[in-house]
Amino acid sequence: MCSGIHAIPSGPGEFPEAVYSFVICDKMNVMIDAGVANSVMDVGFLDKLDYVVITHLHVDHVGALSEIVQRYKSKVIVYEGYSKHLRDPSKINKDAKLVLGEVAEIYGEVPPVDATFIEVKGGEEINLGEKIMKIYHTPGHARHHISVFADQILYAGDSAGGRYNGIPIPTTPPPLDLKKYVESLRFQMSLAPKAVGLAHGGLVHPSHMQEHLEQIISRKYRVTVDIGGGAEEILNKHLEVNYRGLEEAYSSVKNGEI
Ligand SMILES: [Zn+2]
Repeated sequence: MCSGIHAIPSGPGEFPEAVYSFVICDKMNVMIDAGVANSVMDVGFLDKLDYVVITHLHVDHVGALSEIVQRYKSKVIVYEGYSKHLRDPSKINKDAKLVLGEVAEIYGEVPPVDATFIEVKGGEEINLGEKIMKIYHTPGHARHHISVFADQILYAGDSAGGRYNGIPIPTTPPPLDLKKYVESLRFQMSLAPKAVGLAHGGLVHPSHMQEHLEQIISRKYRVTVDIGGGAEEILNKHLEVNYRGLEEAYSSVKNGEI
């Protein structure tokens, strides 16, 4: 039996905290996102896992999904029309190589996922027993991005930035829809969660979202996160990609439009 909520590092051995998955324990257990293929994630404390919600289909959030659903026979919740890219992940892997370059190699290749899929478009509510889990469509980072709200905690995937060492970081690779990203961020702020689960940063105070919004709007998005060693190298490489997404998006958005 598991209880409570869990933030689980699901990045590669070189930088386990590069990515987080979350688990909500209730009568029904739910995992949110499934880390990288070369993941150090340990979910041995789970005797069952009913659902895995995939916030979006980028290589760093679906790599260990196949292994997890093989073990637990969990149903996979994903934005409508997108389960086909998990059954055949060739597009996810191709896009990762194009966008992330060598970082994609560190994360590892996503294997095909054989599971029962539940496709959603946002607005759905799933009863977990004590808690109700609500799904919201939060596009911008990706067109098909969804977030989860349960027990006043928002699991925002990559739609509300990341955070390391108390510093908000952009999670905005190209192609970024900046207007939708900011809209989704503001919407999630309006939910007034008591904590926010970031796929890149773990559980943080909700004031993070305001700090992140300011960093995007003021265009002071370049950050220095001093975590040292190989982890810092991986983070900086990933950040360069996110800066590029923002810079491309700024050039196509008029000042004052966001
Ligand atoms: Zn990500």
